[in-house]
Amino acid sequence: MTSTPGGDATGARAAGDDLLERLAQLCTLALEVFGPPMVVCDDTGRQALGEIGARLVELAALHCPDGARFGAVMRVDGAVAARTGSDMPVGSDAAASTQLDYASDLMMLAEVSRLLAEIRDPDEAAAMICTVVLGATGAVAMVLWRLGGEQLELAHLETAIDTDELGGTDAASPLYAGAARAVAAGEPKIERIQPGAEELTAWHEPLISGGTVIGTLSLVWPGIIDDPSRPAALITSLAQHSAAALDRADLLRQLAEAARTDALTGVANRRMWAERLEQDLLRAQRTNQPLSLITIDIDHFKRYNDSNGHSEGDRLLVDATVAWSQRLRRTDLLARLGGEEFAVLLPDCAAEHVALVAESLRQAMPRGQTCSLGAATYDGRATAAALFEAADAALYRAKHGGRNRVELGSLEP
Ligand code: GH3
Ligand code: MG
Ligand code: MG
Repeated sequence: MTSTPGGDATGARAAGDDLLERLAQLCTLALEVFGPPMVVCDDTGRQALGEIGARLVELAALHCPDGARFGAVMRVDGAVAARTGSDMPVGSDAAASTQLDYASDLMMLAEVSRLLAEIRDPDEAAAMICTVVLGATGAVAMVLWRLGGEQLELAHLETAIDTDELGGTDAASPLYAGAARAVAAGEPKIERIQPGAEELTAWHEPLISGGTVIGTLSLVWPGIIDDPSRPAALITSLAQHSAAALDRADLLRQLAEAARTDALTGVANRRMWAERLEQDLLRAQRTNQPLSLITIDIDHFKRYNDSNGHSEGDRLLVDATVAWSQRLRRTDLLARLGGEEFAVLLPDCAAEHVALVAESLRQAMPRGQTCSLGAATYDGRATAAALFEAADAALYRAKHGGRNRVELGSLEP
Protein backbone atom coordinates (compact mmCIF):
# COMPACT_ATOMS: atom_id res chain seq x y z
CA MET A 1 0.00 0.00 0.00
CA THR A 2 1.38 3.40 -0.97
CA SER A 3 -0.04 6.84 -0.59
CA THR A 4 0.95 10.37 -1.47
CA PRO A 5 0.95 13.14 1.15
CA GLY A 6 -2.64 14.24 1.55
CA GLY A 7 -3.74 11.18 -0.48
CA ASP A 8 -5.02 7.87 0.84
CA ALA A 9 -4.41 8.58 4.50
CA THR A 10 -6.67 5.70 5.64
CA GLY A 11 -4.65 3.15 3.68
CA ALA A 12 -1.43 4.54 5.06
CA ARG A 13 -2.83 4.30 8.56
CA ALA A 14 -3.93 0.70 8.07
CA ALA A 15 -0.50 -0.32 6.79
CA GLY A 16 0.98 1.75 9.60
CA ASP A 17 -1.09 -0.09 12.19
CA ASP A 18 0.30 -3.42 10.97
CA LEU A 19 3.83 -2.15 11.32
CA LEU A 20 3.12 -0.69 14.70
CA GLU A 21 1.84 -4.00 15.94
CA ARG A 22 5.00 -5.62 14.67
CA LEU A 23 7.09 -2.92 16.29
CA ALA A 24 5.38 -3.51 19.58
CA GLN A 25 6.18 -7.23 19.30
CA LEU A 26 9.79 -6.46 18.50
CA CYS A 27 10.10 -4.07 21.43
CA THR A 28 8.74 -6.73 23.75
CA LEU A 29 11.18 -9.21 22.32
CA ALA A 30 14.04 -6.72 22.69
CA LEU A 31 13.26 -6.51 26.38
CA GLU A 32 13.14 -10.29 26.63
CA VAL A 33 16.40 -10.85 24.81
CA PHE A 34 18.50 -7.92 25.98
CA GLY A 35 16.95 -7.23 29.36
CA PRO A 36 15.09 -4.19 30.67
CA PRO A 37 15.13 -1.33 30.03
CA MET A 38 17.44 -0.43 27.21
CA VAL A 39 15.33 2.06 25.38
CA VAL A 40 13.55 5.07 26.62
CA CYS A 41 12.14 7.55 24.17
CA ASP A 42 9.16 9.84 24.22
CA ASP A 43 6.23 9.63 21.88
CA THR A 44 7.43 12.44 19.64
CA GLY A 45 10.68 10.60 19.04
CA ARG A 46 12.61 13.83 19.70
CA GLN A 47 14.71 12.58 22.56
CA ALA A 48 17.76 10.52 21.97
CA LEU A 49 16.73 6.99 21.19
CA GLY A 50 18.48 3.96 22.51
CA GLU A 51 20.15 1.60 20.12
CA ILE A 52 17.30 -0.69 19.38
CA GLY A 53 14.50 1.82 19.60
CA ALA A 54 16.28 4.09 17.14
CA ARG A 55 16.84 1.31 14.70
CA LEU A 56 13.31 -0.02 15.02
CA VAL A 57 11.92 3.43 14.31
CA GLU A 58 14.21 3.74 11.32
CA LEU A 59 13.20 0.38 10.01
CA ALA A 60 9.56 1.23 10.42
CA ALA A 61 10.09 4.54 8.60
CA LEU A 62 11.88 2.70 5.83
CA HIS A 63 8.91 0.42 5.28
CA CYS A 64 6.14 2.87 5.98
CA PRO A 65 3.96 4.37 3.29
CA ASP A 66 4.56 7.96 2.24
CA GLY A 67 3.22 10.46 4.70
CA ALA A 68 3.26 8.19 7.74
CA ARG A 69 6.00 8.11 10.31
CA PHE A 70 6.47 6.12 13.45
CA GLY A 71 7.57 6.61 16.96
CA ALA A 72 8.03 3.95 19.58
CA VAL A 73 7.74 4.35 23.31
CA MET A 74 9.11 1.74 25.63
CA ARG A 75 8.33 2.41 29.23
CA VAL A 76 10.59 1.42 32.05
CA ASP A 77 8.17 -1.27 33.24
CA GLY A 78 8.44 -2.95 29.86
CA ALA A 79 5.05 -1.90 28.53
CA VAL A 80 5.22 -0.83 24.95
CA ALA A 81 3.26 1.81 23.12
CA ALA A 82 3.70 3.13 19.65
CA ARG A 83 1.87 5.57 17.46
CA THR A 84 1.90 6.92 13.98
CA GLY A 85 1.57 10.43 12.61
CA SER A 86 2.86 12.55 9.77
CA ASP A 87 4.37 14.98 12.26
CA MET A 88 6.73 12.41 13.67
CA PRO A 89 10.38 12.77 12.92
CA VAL A 90 12.32 9.73 11.86
CA GLY A 91 14.56 8.43 14.62
CA SER A 92 18.13 9.43 15.33
CA ASP A 93 20.87 9.23 12.73
CA ALA A 94 23.07 7.22 15.04
CA ALA A 95 22.38 3.94 13.31
CA ALA A 96 25.65 2.11 13.23
CA SER A 97 25.81 -1.10 11.27
CA THR A 98 25.81 -3.13 14.50
CA GLN A 99 22.45 -1.60 15.36
CA LEU A 100 21.17 -2.62 11.98
CA ASP A 101 22.40 -6.13 12.64
CA TYR A 102 20.71 -6.19 16.03
CA ALA A 103 17.45 -4.98 14.57
CA SER A 104 17.45 -7.53 11.78
CA ASP A 105 18.40 -10.25 14.25
CA LEU A 106 15.47 -9.20 16.40
CA MET A 107 13.12 -9.27 13.44
CA MET A 108 14.35 -12.73 12.63
CA LEU A 109 14.09 -13.93 16.24
CA ALA A 110 10.53 -12.66 16.41
CA GLU A 111 9.77 -14.66 13.29
CA VAL A 112 11.54 -17.75 14.63
CA SER A 113 9.67 -17.68 17.91
CA ARG A 114 6.38 -17.20 16.08
CA LEU A 115 7.09 -20.15 13.77
CA LEU A 116 8.34 -22.43 16.52
CA ALA A 117 5.47 -21.63 18.87
CA GLU A 118 3.04 -23.15 16.38
CA ILE A 119 4.79 -26.52 16.10
CA ARG A 120 3.38 -29.42 18.06
CA ASP A 121 5.49 -32.30 16.77
CA PRO A 122 9.14 -32.82 17.88
CA ASP A 123 10.31 -34.05 14.45
CA GLU A 124 8.66 -31.15 12.71
CA ALA A 125 10.22 -28.81 15.29
CA ALA A 126 13.70 -30.22 14.56
CA ALA A 127 13.25 -29.72 10.80
CA MET A 128 11.88 -26.22 11.27
CA ILE A 129 14.73 -25.24 13.62
CA CYS A 130 17.32 -26.35 11.04
CA THR A 131 15.62 -24.38 8.28
CA VAL A 132 15.28 -21.16 10.23
CA VAL A 133 18.71 -21.31 11.87
CA LEU A 134 20.40 -21.93 8.52
CA GLY A 135 18.48 -19.01 7.03
CA ALA A 136 19.33 -16.75 9.95
CA THR A 137 23.03 -17.49 10.25
CA GLY A 138 24.08 -18.06 6.66
CA ALA A 139 25.60 -21.41 7.62
CA VAL A 140 25.83 -24.03 4.86
CA ALA A 141 24.87 -27.02 6.98
CA MET A 142 23.30 -27.76 10.29
CA VAL A 143 22.68 -30.82 12.43
CA LEU A 144 20.27 -30.91 15.30
CA TRP A 145 21.33 -33.58 17.79
CA ARG A 146 19.19 -34.73 20.66
CA LEU A 147 20.45 -36.45 23.75
CA GLY A 148 18.91 -39.91 24.14
CA GLY A 149 20.39 -41.23 27.40
CA GLU A 150 24.17 -40.82 27.06
CA GLN A 151 24.20 -40.80 23.27
CA LEU A 152 23.60 -37.99 20.83
CA GLU A 153 21.08 -38.92 18.17
CA LEU A 154 20.67 -37.11 14.89
CA ALA A 155 17.24 -35.48 14.95
CA HIS A 156 17.65 -33.58 11.69
CA LEU A 157 20.30 -32.68 9.12
CA GLU A 158 19.98 -29.90 6.61
CA THR A 159 22.87 -29.17 4.29
CA ALA A 160 23.62 -27.28 1.13
CA ILE A 161 26.91 -29.15 0.68
CA ASP A 162 27.70 -32.81 0.22
CA THR A 163 27.58 -34.84 3.45
CA ASP A 164 31.03 -36.24 2.53
CA GLU A 165 32.35 -32.68 2.66
CA LEU A 166 30.94 -32.53 6.21
CA GLY A 167 32.63 -35.78 7.16
CA GLY A 168 29.29 -37.54 7.73
CA THR A 169 27.31 -37.63 10.96
CA ASP A 170 28.06 -41.04 12.45
CA ALA A 171 29.62 -41.49 15.89
CA ALA A 172 33.16 -41.33 14.40
CA SER A 173 32.54 -38.06 12.51
CA PRO A 174 34.13 -34.73 13.53
CA LEU A 175 30.66 -33.15 13.81
CA TYR A 176 29.48 -35.80 16.25
CA ALA A 177 32.69 -35.49 18.29
CA GLY A 178 32.39 -31.68 18.47
CA ALA A 179 28.71 -31.85 19.42
CA ALA A 180 29.55 -34.36 22.16
CA ARG A 181 32.27 -32.02 23.50
CA ALA A 182 29.77 -29.14 23.66
CA VAL A 183 27.34 -31.37 25.57
CA ALA A 184 30.05 -32.48 28.02
CA ALA A 185 31.20 -28.88 28.61
CA GLY A 186 27.69 -27.42 28.63
CA GLU A 187 28.99 -24.52 26.54
CA PRO A 188 29.59 -23.72 22.86
CA LYS A 189 32.58 -25.22 21.04
CA ILE A 190 33.91 -23.55 17.91
CA GLU A 191 36.23 -25.78 15.93
CA ARG A 192 38.01 -25.82 12.61
CA ILE A 193 37.59 -29.09 10.78
CA GLN A 194 38.67 -30.33 7.38
CA PRO A 195 36.91 -33.61 6.68
CA GLY A 196 36.96 -33.00 2.89
CA ALA A 197 38.76 -30.67 0.50
CA GLU A 198 37.60 -27.50 2.23
CA GLU A 199 38.35 -26.12 5.66
CA LEU A 200 35.17 -25.54 7.67
CA THR A 201 34.16 -23.86 10.89
CA ALA A 202 31.89 -26.00 13.05
CA TRP A 203 29.96 -24.25 15.81
CA HIS A 204 28.41 -26.53 18.39
CA GLU A 205 25.86 -24.79 20.59
CA PRO A 206 24.32 -26.82 23.41
CA LEU A 207 20.55 -26.81 23.71
CA ILE A 208 19.72 -26.20 27.35
CA SER A 209 16.29 -26.47 28.89
CA GLY A 210 15.62 -26.06 32.59
CA GLY A 211 19.36 -26.20 33.28
CA THR A 212 19.73 -29.56 31.50
CA VAL A 213 21.46 -30.14 28.17
CA ILE A 214 18.96 -31.75 25.81
CA GLY A 215 20.99 -31.66 22.60
CA THR A 216 23.21 -29.56 20.38
CA LEU A 217 22.93 -27.38 17.30
CA SER A 218 25.95 -27.95 15.04
CA LEU A 219 26.39 -25.20 12.45
CA VAL A 220 28.92 -25.33 9.66
CA TRP A 221 30.40 -22.46 7.64
CA PRO A 222 32.98 -22.68 4.88
CA GLY A 223 36.34 -21.18 5.86
CA ILE A 224 37.04 -19.42 9.13
CA ILE A 225 34.89 -16.94 11.03
CA ASP A 226 36.90 -13.81 11.87
CA ASP A 227 34.62 -12.31 14.47
CA PRO A 228 32.37 -14.76 16.27
CA SER A 229 30.88 -12.12 18.60
CA ARG A 230 27.75 -11.36 16.57
CA PRO A 231 26.85 -14.94 15.67
CA ALA A 232 27.47 -15.79 19.32
CA ALA A 233 24.64 -13.59 20.63
CA LEU A 234 22.34 -14.65 17.83
CA ILE A 235 23.08 -18.37 18.07
CA THR A 236 22.60 -18.35 21.84
CA SER A 237 19.15 -16.81 21.38
CA LEU A 238 18.30 -19.22 18.58
CA ALA A 239 19.39 -22.15 20.75
CA GLN A 240 17.19 -20.93 23.63
CA HIS A 241 14.17 -20.63 21.33
CA SER A 242 14.94 -24.04 19.84
CA ALA A 243 15.31 -25.77 23.20
CA ALA A 244 12.02 -24.28 24.39
CA ALA A 245 10.25 -25.35 21.18
CA LEU A 246 11.61 -28.91 21.40
CA ASP A 247 10.63 -29.19 25.05
CA ARG A 248 7.16 -27.95 24.32
CA ALA A 249 6.71 -30.30 21.35
CA ASP A 250 7.99 -33.25 23.43
CA LEU A 251 5.56 -32.42 26.18
CA LEU A 252 2.65 -32.13 23.78
CA ARG A 253 3.52 -35.51 22.24
CA GLN A 254 3.77 -37.11 25.70
CA LEU A 255 0.44 -35.61 26.69
CA ALA A 256 -1.20 -36.79 23.48
CA GLU A 257 0.21 -40.28 24.01
CA ALA A 258 -0.76 -40.38 27.67
CA ALA A 259 -4.30 -39.45 26.74
CA ARG A 260 -4.47 -42.42 24.39
CA THR A 261 -2.68 -45.17 26.30
CA ASP A 262 -3.47 -47.25 29.34
CA ALA A 263 -1.26 -46.20 32.25
CA LEU A 264 -0.80 -49.72 33.68
CA THR A 265 -0.06 -51.78 30.56
CA GLY A 266 1.01 -49.13 28.04
CA VAL A 267 -1.35 -50.51 25.38
CA ALA A 268 -4.03 -48.36 23.74
CA ASN A 269 -6.88 -47.19 25.91
CA ARG A 270 -10.57 -46.92 25.07
CA ARG A 271 -10.12 -43.53 23.41
CA MET A 272 -7.47 -44.71 20.96
CA TRP A 273 -9.47 -47.88 20.38
CA ALA A 274 -12.55 -45.92 19.38
CA GLU A 275 -10.54 -43.70 17.03
CA ARG A 276 -8.81 -46.60 15.31
CA LEU A 277 -11.98 -48.70 15.06
CA GLU A 278 -13.76 -45.94 13.14
CA GLN A 279 -10.74 -45.24 10.91
CA ASP A 280 -10.05 -48.88 10.10
CA LEU A 281 -13.68 -49.61 9.43
CA LEU A 282 -13.84 -46.74 6.92
CA ARG A 283 -10.65 -47.93 5.28
CA ALA A 284 -11.93 -51.52 5.05
CA GLN A 285 -15.12 -50.20 3.48
CA ARG A 286 -13.20 -48.11 0.95
CA THR A 287 -10.56 -50.67 0.02
CA ASN A 288 -12.65 -53.81 0.40
CA GLN A 289 -9.92 -55.27 2.62
CA PRO A 290 -10.94 -57.59 5.45
CA LEU A 291 -11.03 -56.38 9.06
CA SER A 292 -11.47 -58.54 12.13
CA LEU A 293 -11.97 -57.87 15.79
CA ILE A 294 -11.31 -59.98 18.90
CA THR A 295 -12.54 -59.32 22.43
CA ILE A 296 -10.75 -60.93 25.38
CA ASP A 297 -11.73 -61.29 29.04
CA ILE A 298 -9.45 -62.93 31.59
CA ASP A 299 -11.15 -65.84 33.34
CA HIS A 300 -11.76 -65.73 37.10
CA PHE A 301 -9.60 -62.68 37.48
CA LYS A 302 -11.33 -61.74 40.70
CA ARG A 303 -10.28 -65.07 42.16
CA TYR A 304 -6.68 -64.48 40.99
CA ASN A 305 -6.70 -61.11 42.73
CA ASP A 306 -8.17 -62.58 45.89
CA SER A 307 -5.58 -65.36 46.04
CA ASN A 308 -2.50 -63.39 44.97
CA GLY A 309 -3.20 -59.78 45.83
CA HIS A 310 -4.14 -56.83 43.68
CA SER A 311 -0.59 -55.96 42.65
CA GLU A 312 0.00 -59.50 41.40
CA GLY A 313 -3.25 -59.08 39.48
CA ASP A 314 -1.78 -55.93 37.94
CA ARG A 315 1.32 -57.86 36.93
CA LEU A 316 -0.80 -60.53 35.29
CA LEU A 317 -2.49 -57.81 33.22
CA VAL A 318 0.90 -56.46 32.12
CA ASP A 319 2.31 -59.93 31.36
CA ALA A 320 -0.78 -60.81 29.33
CA THR A 321 -0.49 -57.71 27.14
CA VAL A 322 3.22 -58.41 26.57
CA ALA A 323 2.51 -62.03 25.62
CA TRP A 324 -0.39 -61.12 23.32
CA SER A 325 1.53 -58.30 21.65
CA GLN A 326 4.22 -60.80 20.65
CA ARG A 327 1.59 -62.83 18.75
CA LEU A 328 0.18 -59.81 16.92
CA ARG A 329 1.29 -57.86 13.84
CA ARG A 330 2.56 -54.29 14.08
CA THR A 331 -0.55 -53.09 12.29
CA ASP A 332 -2.87 -54.80 14.80
CA LEU A 333 -4.09 -52.76 17.74
CA LEU A 334 -4.37 -54.24 21.23
CA ALA A 335 -6.40 -52.09 23.61
CA ARG A 336 -7.41 -52.35 27.26
CA LEU A 337 -11.04 -51.36 27.42
CA GLY A 338 -11.24 -51.61 31.22
CA GLY A 339 -10.42 -53.95 34.12
CA GLU A 340 -9.42 -57.32 32.63
CA GLU A 341 -11.18 -56.70 29.33
CA PHE A 342 -9.22 -56.24 26.13
CA ALA A 343 -9.88 -56.01 22.41
CA VAL A 344 -7.76 -56.45 19.30
CA LEU A 345 -8.34 -54.83 15.93
CA LEU A 346 -6.83 -56.78 13.02
CA PRO A 347 -6.73 -55.01 9.66
CA ASP A 348 -6.24 -57.26 6.63
CA CYS A 349 -7.25 -60.31 8.68
CA ALA A 350 -10.03 -62.39 7.12
CA ALA A 351 -12.58 -64.62 8.87
CA GLU A 352 -10.60 -67.82 8.18
CA HIS A 353 -7.52 -66.36 9.94
CA VAL A 354 -9.01 -64.59 12.92
CA ALA A 355 -9.90 -67.87 14.67
CA LEU A 356 -6.24 -68.92 14.43
CA VAL A 357 -5.02 -65.62 15.83
CA ALA A 358 -7.54 -65.76 18.68
CA GLU A 359 -6.50 -69.33 19.48
CA SER A 360 -2.85 -68.28 19.56
CA LEU A 361 -3.73 -65.45 21.99
CA ARG A 362 -5.61 -67.91 24.20
CA GLN A 363 -2.55 -70.18 24.31
CA ALA A 364 -0.25 -67.24 25.08
CA MET A 365 -2.09 -66.41 28.35
CA PRO A 366 0.70 -66.38 31.00
CA ARG A 367 1.05 -67.63 34.60
CA GLY A 368 -1.12 -70.67 34.06
CA GLN A 369 -4.22 -68.50 33.81
CA THR A 370 -6.88 -68.66 31.11
CA CYS A 371 -8.95 -66.25 29.09
CA SER A 372 -12.07 -66.34 26.92
CA LEU A 373 -12.22 -64.79 23.47
CA GLY A 374 -14.83 -63.76 20.91
CA ALA A 375 -14.05 -62.91 17.28
CA ALA A 376 -15.93 -61.34 14.41
CA THR A 377 -15.09 -60.17 10.89
CA TYR A 378 -16.39 -57.08 9.12
CA ASP A 379 -18.89 -57.76 6.34
CA GLY A 380 -18.48 -54.46 4.50
CA ARG A 381 -21.72 -53.04 5.88
CA ALA A 382 -21.94 -53.25 9.65
CA THR A 383 -21.37 -50.33 11.99
CA ALA A 384 -18.42 -50.31 14.38
CA ALA A 385 -20.83 -50.94 17.25
CA ALA A 386 -22.41 -53.94 15.50
CA LEU A 387 -19.01 -55.46 14.74
CA PHE A 388 -17.97 -55.07 18.36
CA GLU A 389 -21.29 -56.49 19.59
CA ALA A 390 -20.85 -59.57 17.40
CA ALA A 391 -17.42 -60.31 18.92
CA ASP A 392 -18.63 -59.54 22.44
CA ALA A 393 -21.68 -61.83 22.05
CA ALA A 394 -19.28 -64.60 20.98
CA LEU A 395 -17.13 -63.90 24.07
CA TYR A 396 -20.25 -64.23 26.23
CA ARG A 397 -20.91 -67.64 24.67
CA ALA A 398 -17.28 -68.63 25.35
CA LYS A 399 -17.73 -67.73 29.04
CA HIS A 400 -20.96 -69.67 29.29
CA GLY A 401 -19.58 -72.58 27.35
CA GLY A 402 -17.01 -73.17 30.11
CA ARG A 403 -14.36 -70.39 29.57
CA ASN A 404 -10.79 -70.79 28.20
CA ARG A 405 -12.02 -70.97 24.61
CA VAL A 406 -12.59 -69.01 21.40
CA GLU A 407 -16.05 -68.47 19.91
CA LEU A 408 -16.73 -66.93 16.53
CA GLY A 409 -19.43 -64.31 16.20
CA SER A 410 -21.70 -63.59 13.29
CA LEU A 411 -23.07 -60.34 11.92
CA GLU A 412 -26.16 -62.06 10.54
CA PRO A 413 -29.28 -60.82 12.30
P1 GH3 B 1 -15.04 -64.13 34.60
O1 GH3 B 1 -14.26 -65.37 34.37
O2 GH3 B 1 -16.50 -64.38 34.56
O3 GH3 B 1 -14.63 -63.05 33.70
O4 GH3 B 1 -14.72 -63.68 36.10
P2 GH3 B 1 -13.83 -62.52 36.59
O5 GH3 B 1 -13.50 -62.71 38.02
O6 GH3 B 1 -12.65 -62.35 35.69
O7 GH3 B 1 -14.76 -61.25 36.33
P3 GH3 B 1 -15.32 -60.18 37.30
O8 GH3 B 1 -15.94 -59.15 36.40
O9 GH3 B 1 -16.20 -60.81 38.34
O10 GH3 B 1 -14.09 -59.56 38.02
C1 GH3 B 1 -13.15 -58.73 37.40
C2 GH3 B 1 -12.16 -58.35 38.44
O11 GH3 B 1 -11.13 -57.57 37.87
C3 GH3 B 1 -12.73 -57.55 39.57
C4 GH3 B 1 -11.79 -56.38 39.74
O12 GH3 B 1 -11.40 -56.23 41.07
C5 GH3 B 1 -10.61 -56.77 38.91
N1 GH3 B 1 -9.92 -55.63 38.34
C6 GH3 B 1 -10.43 -54.65 37.55
N2 GH3 B 1 -9.46 -53.78 37.21
C7 GH3 B 1 -8.32 -54.20 37.80
C8 GH3 B 1 -6.97 -53.71 37.82
O13 GH3 B 1 -6.62 -52.72 37.21
N3 GH3 B 1 -6.05 -54.43 38.54
C9 GH3 B 1 -6.39 -55.55 39.20
N4 GH3 B 1 -5.45 -56.21 39.85
N5 GH3 B 1 -7.66 -56.02 39.20
C10 GH3 B 1 -8.61 -55.37 38.52
MG1 MG C 1 -14.77 -58.84 32.84
MG1 MG D 1 -13.03 -61.79 33.66
